[in-house]
This record gives sequence, C-alpha cells and structure tokens, in this order.
Amino acid sequence: MESLVLPACAAIAALRQAGMAKFTSHMAQALAEARAAAGRGEVPVGAVILSPQGRVVAAAGNRTRELSDPTAHAEILALRAACAKAGTERLPGHVLWVTLEPCPMCAAAIAAARIATLFYGADDPRMGGVAHGARVFDHPQCHHRPQIYDGIGAQAAQRLLRDFFAARR
Ligand code: ZN
Repeated sequence: MESLVLPACAAIAALRQAGMAKFTSHMAQALAEARAAAGRGEVPVGAVILSPQGRVVAAAGNRTRELSDPTAHAEILALRAACAKAGTERLPGHVLWVTLEPCPMCAAAIAAARIATLFYGADDPRMGGVAHGARVFDHPQCHHRPQIYDGIGAQAAQRLLRDFFAARR
C-alpha cells in the first residue's frame, strides 16, 4: 500500500498550533474505502466520520450501483451510519474526511448534520458543490458551515478516479 504523504499545508500546521497535538489524518482510511469502492465497480470515493473524541464511527465508499440508489454517495452512507449509531440526526463536533469534494447533495446533508469539520481531498470542478458549482456552504440559505480544509491526499484521490474512468473507456 502506498504511503500517504501529507502536504505540509497551512491547515495542518494551524491545527497543530491550535493544540490539536493528536491530530492525525484519516485520509488514508478514506482512500482505502475509495479503493474498495473501485473494486466493487463503483466510482472510487470514500468517507470516514470521527466522533468529537476522535474515534472512527463510520466509514463508507460509494454504493450507488450496488444499491440502485443515486443518493448512495460515500458521505451520505457514512452520515447515515454515524447518525444511526448515535441515535440522532445531528453530529455536532464530528469530523468528516472524504476523498473528493462533496457534491451539492452531500454538502447539504453535511450542513444538516452539523458536521464541525470537513476535510476533502481532490477538487471536483465538474460535480463539486463546495468550491465549485452550487457552493452550498456559501449560500445564504445554508444554516451551518463546517470548517473546511481541502487538498489532503488530493493526488492519490485524483489518481484513483482517473484510473477508474480510464479503465472504463
Ligand atoms: Zn455526493
């Protein structure tokens, strides 16, 4: 398994400085979920949710084909699992790691769930809804905007997607 090199980005440095000495990236686990999704013939996107205590409470990859469900994106499945486990529809203080910029549907669900922090890997200019397109969290209708950090593990996430779609052509 390839090692995941964290970019020495300002976000991580800031988190470390803010006292999150125990900060660890969970992008490697999200990428493992994305790889597993590719193995199932699904678009390789993976997501992991951490509790406020830093425990992994849900991990999922895309299952839209398997479930015949256009809403079965990695983030939605992880949010559903984490909420079911917590017995609540909101996840304040939780952290979501996802390999690709969330689409508008997932961004809306992330806001509804009150996720505290969102880490995503690769940009998605075509389908993304955070830094592109609908820019859900910047919309006046959005009631909750998580802290957002992008670019972590972006190259690995991008490579997975590229290889997946190249193999399909
Ligand atoms: Zn989505």
